[in-house]
Amino acid sequence: MLVMPDTSRAIGADLRRLLKPDQVKDDAPTKTAYAVDASIYRMEPQAVALVESEDDIHRVVTYAMSRSVPLTARAAGTNLTGSAIGSGIILDVSRLHRIVEVNREERWARIQPGIVLAELNKHLAREGLMFGPDPSSGDMCKLGGMLANNSAGPHTLRYGAVKDNVRSLRVCLTSGSWLDARNFDLDDPALARVLSSHAPIRETLSLVQEHTDVLARKRPAVSKNSCGYNLFGLADGLAHGRLDLPHLFVGSEGTLGVFSEATISLVSKPRATLTALIHFKRLEDVGDAVPRLLALTPSALEVMDANTLDLIGRGTHGIPAAAAATLLAELDAEGGAVDLREAAERMATICGDYPLASEIVVAYDPDRREQLWKARKALYPTLYRFDPRKKPINFVDDVVVRAERISELIRYLEEFFGSQRVPVAIFGHIGNGNAHIVPLLDVNDKRDFDKMVKGYHEIHQTVLDRFEGSICGEHGDGRVRAEYVQAMFGPELYDLFVKVKRSFDPSGMLNPGVKISDRPFTEHIDYTRLSKSCATCAKCNAVCPVYDVFRSEDMSSRGWFEIVTDVRYNYVNSKRVVEACLNCKSCRTACPAGVDVSQLILDKRAEHPNSLAGAIFRFQAKTRQFATFLKLVARLQPLWDRPLIRRLLDLLSRPILSRLAESASFSPAIVMPKFASRHLRDRYPRLALEPEQSRRSAVAYFHGCAANYFDDGVGDAVIAVLRKHGVEPDLPAQRCSGTPVETYGHRELAKDGARTNLRSFTGYDTIVTGCASCTLMLKDYPKLFAGEPEQSAAEAMARRVKHISEFVMQSPVRPPTAAAGAASTVTYHSSCHLRAAGVTKEPRAILQNLPGVRYVEMPDADRCAGGAGTYLVKDFETSQRIVARKRQAVAQSGAGVVATSCPACMIQLKTGLPADVEVKHVAQVLRESYEAAERQSGEPHP
Ligand SMILES: Cc1cc2nc3c(=O)[nH]c(=O)nc-3n(C[C@H](O)[C@H](O)[C@H](O)COP(=O)(O)OP(=O)(O)OC[C@H]3O[C@@H](n4cnc5c(N)ncnc54)[C@H](O)[C@@H]3O)c2cc1C
Ligand code: SF4
Ligand code: SF4
Repeated sequence: MLVMPDTSRAIGADLRRLLKPDQVKDDAPTKTAYAVDASIYRMEPQAVALVESEDDIHRVVTYAMSRSVPLTARAAGTNLTGSAIGSGIILDVSRLHRIVEVNREERWARIQPGIVLAELNKHLAREGLMFGPDPSSGDMCKLGGMLANNSAGPHTLRYGAVKDNVRSLRVCLTSGSWLDARNFDLDDPALARVLSSHAPIRETLSLVQEHTDVLARKRPAVSKNSCGYNLFGLADGLAHGRLDLPHLFVGSEGTLGVFSEATISLVSKPRATLTALIHFKRLEDVGDAVPRLLALTPSALEVMDANTLDLIGRGTHGIPAAAAATLLAELDAEGGAVDLREAAERMATICGDYPLASEIVVAYDPDRREQLWKARKALYPTLYRFDPRKKPINFVDDVVVRAERISELIRYLEEFFGSQRVPVAIFGHIGNGNAHIVPLLDVNDKRDFDKMVKGYHEIHQTVLDRFEGSICGEHGDGRVRAEYVQAMFGPELYDLFVKVKRSFDPSGMLNPGVKISDRPFTEHIDYTRLSKSCATCAKCNAVCPVYDVFRSEDMSSRGWFEIVTDVRYNYVNSKRVVEACLNCKSCRTACPAGVDVSQLILDKRAEHPNSLAGAIFRFQAKTRQFATFLKLVARLQPLWDRPLIRRLLDLLSRPILSRLAESASFSPAIVMPKFASRHLRDRYPRLALEPEQSRRSAVAYFHGCAANYFDDGVGDAVIAVLRKHGVEPDLPAQRCSGTPVETYGHRELAKDGARTNLRSFTGYDTIVTGCASCTLMLKDYPKLFAGEPEQSAAEAMARRVKHISEFVMQSPVRPPTAAAGAASTVTYHSSCHLRAAGVTKEPRAILQNLPGVRYVEMPDADRCAGGAGTYLVKDFETSQRIVARKRQAVAQSGAGVVATSCPACMIQLKTGLPADVEVKHVAQVLRESYEAAERQSGEPHP
C-alpha cells in the first residue's frame, strides 16, 4: 500500500524556516479563526503567515509560487464576498500598520496595508486631514483591504472611491519582483524601465491598447463600478498620454499582487458638517428629491427603505411608522457653520415639497451626528438580531444604477422579494445609485436556498438588462460575484480580464476562486455558521485589546467566537486562546448583533475551572480568615514590597503561579496599592453590618474587595461623597461580587457568593458601587442565575445598582464644589466594565463640571487599559503591551491626572503610566472638590 506523506503541516513547517516562529501559525484554532471573513463562505487555510516586512512578503509569495500553494492576502477580513479566505496560505498584513510619512502641504500619506482606517483618520485629524473614502466598516477595515477592494462609502459622493485617492502602490508580483506602481507619463524613461523589467505590465498595456473599442463599448454607464479589472481606468490614462498603474491594482482583490505600501491622497477635514435625517412618506418622492438635493453638493446621501426601518426596529431608532424611506443627508462646509445653516434651509425647502412623516432632524454636533449615523453604520450586523434562523445573506448586495432610477430599483426589489415572501433590507448610497440589498434567509432550508439562487440570477440580470447598471459598486466580486463577471461584461472583455490575470499569475495561485473564476457562487457557503448569531463583521476585533497587541485572528474576539463555537472545539488544543481573553467585555459593548464573546469564553472556562484560583477564592470566601490573612500581608508590606524582595518573591512564586497560567508572575514592576491594616469595614464600624443584621439605611454601599482590603482611598471617598449628598450608607456583609471568580472558571463559587450578596442587599432602595467590575457583575446577576430560582431576586437587585457617578448625577442634593488645589488638567479612562454596564457619560459630566478642573477627553479613552482585575498577574507582558497605547493617549492629552472608576484599572494605570501622572478614582476627585468648597466657606456641609 502506498502511504502518502502527511503534508497537512508541511507548509507551516516550511514557512517557519522563512519567518520567525510567532509569525507562522497552523494549529487547529488558528485555522478555524482564519476560515472566515465577513462573507457567507468558509475555507480553512493550511497555514497563516503574519508578515512584518517587505522581505517577509517576498519570502512567502516566492515560497507559495514555487510550491504551487494558493496564497491569499488578508487585512481585517471584513469583506463581504469571501475574498480574504483560501485553502492555502493566508498572508496576513495586519502587523504592517505604520503610517510611514504624512505630507501635510501636499496632502498625501505613505501607509502600510495593515493600518485600520479609523486609526489612520484619528492620526490625520491632528493635521486637519483625512482619507476621503469611508466604508461603513471604517472602525475595523484596513487600508490593504480597502485598496484591493476599491472600497467606497457614504462620502464617495464627494471624495470618490479608493481608486480616485491613490498615488502609488508597492506591489510584490508572483515573479518575486517588486513594482512601484504609479502614474507614469508614456514618455517617462522610468516607465520604459518598468516595461522592460515587468512582462505582465507590458502585456497588459498592449492588451488595453489593442482593445480600446471593446473597453469603450463595455464601460458601465453608472457612477460607480468595482466589477472586473479596472482596465477602463488604464484606457482613460492612455487617452491622456499616461499609464496610471494604481488603477489596475486598486480593486484587483489580491489576485494580481500583494501590496506592502501605498501613497494615498488626503483631503481636508471639513470645518463643519451638517447631518440631516428626513423621513419620506412615499418612496417615489425620494427618487424625485435626490437630483434636487444633489444640487446642494451633499457629501453623503444615504437611503434606508421601509423594510429596513422595520427590521432594525422603528421604535428603537425613533423612526415614524409612516416613513416609507429615510434619507440621511450630509453637507460639509469649508467656511464654517453659517453656510450650513443656509444649506439646511434650502434642504428643508426642497423636502417641504413632499409629504414627510415627521420634522427633519438636523445635527451639527459630532456626538449627535454620530447618533444619527449609528443605525446606518451598524445596519448589516444589526440585522442578525432579527430572527434566530433567518440571517442577512450577502449575494446581491452591491448593485449600482443611475441615481435617478434608484426608487424604481427599490420598488422592483420590494416587489421581487415580496413575491418570494422574503424579508429584505434595502439601503445604500442613493446619491451614487448604489443599493445594498440584504435579504434574510435560512439557507439551511431548501426553499430559502432556492430563493437565493433564483434571486441571484434574476436580480443581477435585471440590473444589467433593464437598468443598464453594475452588479458591483464597492464590495468587490470575490467568490460571490465571480460567476457573474462574464455576464456583466460579455465574453470578449472577460477574456481580456483572464489574459491580464494569467499574465500576472500564470499558475493561478494568487487568491484562486476570486474575481476571475467560473465556480458557482454557492460553492464553499458556510451553512453551519449562517445559523449562528455572529455576523463575522469584526467590529469586536476593533476593540479587543488582545487583537490590538497580537494582530492575529486566532487572538481576537471574532476568532474566539469561531473557535469556541466550532463543533470540533476542545479545551486542550484551544487553551492557549481561550485563556488569553481578559474578560474586559469590550466586545460585548461593541457588538451590533448582540453577541457576548466574553460570556462564551467564560462558559468554556467554566468547564475547566483553574484549581489554584479555586483554592484562593475558596479561602477568600471565608471572609474573616481571609481578612486576618490580608491584615498580616498589610503589616508585612514595608518588608515584602521592596524592590529586592519583590524580585525574590517573583522568582519564588513563579512555579506556584504557573498553575494559574503559564505566563503568570508577580512582577516587581506592578505598583501595588497599600494593603489596609484596618479594612474599610473596620474604619466605619457604625456603617458595617454583620450578616443577618437589619438594615439602617435605604442606601447600601457595595464596596467589594479592593476598596475594603486596600488603603487606596476609594472606599473612603465613596462614603464621603455619599455623606455630602446627605446619605449615611449601610455597608452590608458581602462577598466578592464574583467577576474574578468567574473569570477563572469557578461559576458555582461565584454563584455561591452572589447568593450571599442577594440576601444581604435585599430591601435597599439603592445599592451604590465604586468599582466598575462589581457594578457590572451585580447588574449581570440575572444572567448568572438565568432560569434559576434566584433570577427574580437578581433582577430586583440589578435594578437598584448605581455606580457612584450615576448616584451623584441623579442626586437632588448639589453640594458646593471648589478648586481643590492648583488648576489641573484631568482626563478620564473609561473602565471597560463600567462601559459594559452602560455608564459612560456620568463620570465625564462630573469631571467636566468641577471648578479648577480642565477636562480633556483623551484619545482611546474607551479602550481597555489591560488590567482587567488580575490579568496583570496572569500575563504581565501582554498587559503592559496593552497599556502602552493608553500611555501614549494620556501623553497626547497632556493631562496630569487620570480619573477612572475602577480600583483594578487604577493599579494598572499606576503601573503603566509615568510616575508624574496622578491616577484617581472619580469619587476621590469629587471628594476633594467638595472638601475644598467646605474649607473655603468655613462651614461643614453634611
Ligand atoms: C458591517 C460592514 C460594513 C461594510 N461597509 C462597507 C462600505 O460601506 N463600503 C465598502 O466598500 N465596503 C464595505 N464593507 C466591506 C469591507 O469592509 C471593505 O471591502 C473593506 O475595505 C475590506 O477591508 P479589509 O481590511 O477587511 O480587507 P479583507 O477583507 O481582509 O480583504 C479584502 C480583499 O483585499 C485583499 N487584500 C488585503 N490586503 C491586501 C494586500 N496587502 N495586498 C493585496 N491584496 C490585499 C484580500 O485578498 C481581499 O481580496 C463592509 C463590511 C462590513 C462587515
Ligand atoms: S461577535 Fe458581534 S461584533 Fe464580533 S464579529 Fe460577531 S457580530 Fe461582529
Ligand atoms: S472580553 Fe475583551 S479580551 Fe475578551 S474577547 Fe472580548 S474584547 Fe477581547
